Amino acid sequence: MTDLIKQAAEHLIKSKYAIALTGAGISTESGIPDFRGPSGIWTKDPEAENRAYRVYALFQKDPKRYWIDRLTMPSLLGNLDQYAPNPGHLALAELEKMGILKWVITQNIDGLHQKAGSRNVLDYHGNAFRHRCVACGSRFESRAFDLKKLLEEDRLPPLCSGCGGVLKSDVVHFHEPIPFDVAEQSLEEASRCDVALICGTSAVVYPFARLPQVVKQRPPGEESIIIEVNAEPTPLTERGISDYLLRGKTGEVLPRIVEEIKKTQPQRSQSTQR
Ligand code: NAD
Repeated sequence: MTDLIKQAAEHLIKSKYAIALTGAGISTESGIPDFRGPSGIWTKDPEAENRAYRVYALFQKDPKRYWIDRLTMPSLLGNLDQYAPNPGHLALAELEKMGILKWVITQNIDGLHQKAGSRNVLDYHGNAFRHRCVACGSRFESRAFDLKKLLEEDRLPPLCSGCGGVLKSDVVHFHEPIPFDVAEQSLEEASRCDVALICGTSAVVYPFARLPQVVKQRPPGEESIIIEVNAEPTPLTERGISDYLLRGKTGEVLPRIVEEIKKTQPQRSQSTQR
């Protein structure tokens, strides 16, 4: 493992445009369960997965009912306000401050990368702290809405203050298309990237799972390196899309990579490049 940590640090130091692709696994050490890990929500309760696949259809058919369900039924991941970033999130924020990491593209909806201090974050599957207008795509901080009052006054669903369209949670549900702006920018970042850190994801949810393949397809003469930091091997490991796997917890492995970079380049510790 020590050799692979050194190798990852070297690849990141030499990189021109490094990005991180993260999934639910990076937040398990903050106390938020993943879906498909050994203690994952789907692993323990497969019926919860079936229910999740019906949420978007319900929104399309009956947005008022969708909001009533959200306000009256327990949320799958609990109250996301209560969680704090862990050393894995903090290590990625530090890599950004060092000027090494250009973007984090996350499947997570928990806002923990932003809480850790990462500035360039693309919430590929949306953010639980925002609502999104399905007509014009505008996003709004959810705390600006008193949804309980709207429920009491029978005024659900909430509406967009810009165009009057119906709002849904910004979270992208199963069967819902990825919002165009995020999908397009993620593709751009992946095609510019020469070193990608893939952290805490089973890499089976599409279209996100295509992004590592985009990183791999560089123009002739250009190379890219994919480093996986995961508790278990994934299809990326098995199909040779990742170059190597640092098998372990993101909250332990990522800080070790940062320490190794600081040992090799002490000036990076003070760096606040943006
Ligand atoms: P997943 O549940 O399919 O896979 C998580 C992977 O991370 C597993 O392979 C697991 O072995 C690994 N893992 C767990 N803890 C780890 C750790 N500490 N260090 C390293 N690896 C660890 O998650 P996914 O691939 O992100 O896909 C699930 C979908 O569920 C995503 O779309 C995401 O939006 C959503 N989700 C989000 C959250 C969140 O926001 N925190 C939580 C659960 C699910």
